[in-house]
Amino acid sequence: MRVLFVFIDGVGYAPAGLANPVCPEVCPTLCRLMADAPRLDACLGVPGLPQSATGQATLYTGVNAAQVMGRHKEGFPGPTLCRLIQQDNLFLEARRRGLRVCFADAYFADAPEELAARRFKSVTTIMSLTAPETLRFQKDMLAGRAVVHDLTRQALVAKGYTGPLISPETAGEQLLGVAAENDLTLFEYFQTDIVGHSQDRARAEATLRALDAFLRVVAEGVPEDMLLVVTSDHGNIEDLGTRGHTYNPVPLIVRGPGAETFRDGAASLLDVLPRVLRALG
Ligand SMILES: [Zn+2]
Repeated sequence: MRVLFVFIDGVGYAPAGLANPVCPEVCPTLCRLMADAPRLDACLGVPGLPQSATGQATLYTGVNAAQVMGRHKEGFPGPTLCRLIQQDNLFLEARRRGLRVCFADAYFADAPEELAARRFKSVTTIMSLTAPETLRFQKDMLAGRAVVHDLTRQALVAKGYTGPLISPETAGEQLLGVAAENDLTLFEYFQTDIVGHSQDRARAEATLRALDAFLRVVAEGVPEDMLLVVTSDHGNIEDLGTRGHTYNPVPLIVRGPGAETFRDGAASLLDVLPRVLRALG
């Protein structure tokens, strides 16, 4: 089965209230999808607030990276975490099975060597570099065959991009186009975490509205023979009362054939990778 995996950084469950912008008035599609999704533990049995590097590494390796590190690690992986990701991961396993795999986020670069030379690399960059054919670059974005992490390309303007901006809906259509050509497509969205740290309600609402428009197109347009999986690494934006991440559980949204089996028994970030691999067959 083909899988479209959408990662949304820093979205968890919190009670409704003034500090929680994740509400039906702001993001109806996301709320609807979250309503019946299993809630995954992101704390992984390790004290402290969950963080992205260990959370994402856990999602993509199926190994409890926080336990391996003895703590939750934020930002960019160091040597130990890097080795863990390079040893084996979602992309390597899917490629071993002969599947077509794509990381649909467009890098503002032209070749894998440019990314490899970067001093700071994210979990997903490290993973993608273990199977460089999965990477997409500027030329792919301009051809509509890759999506910029902020959906609209606005984030690229400060980096010198002078091309057209696109709507979140168009970004959703382009992601569906990429997914149609691959067995496993991963897309990552970070603005939710960035805005969550800002504690700015207006910015949070604007971000969630854009994400919601994108998700609506993706959820409605995903073909019948494709599984849509949406999850996160830790909570953040659902509680603007705190500047850091939260201990809240995160959603495991699954839509499509076999969704029931996929969701069954899923309880933590550790449970995502084995299920994605099982769905891929
Ligand atoms: Zn964060």
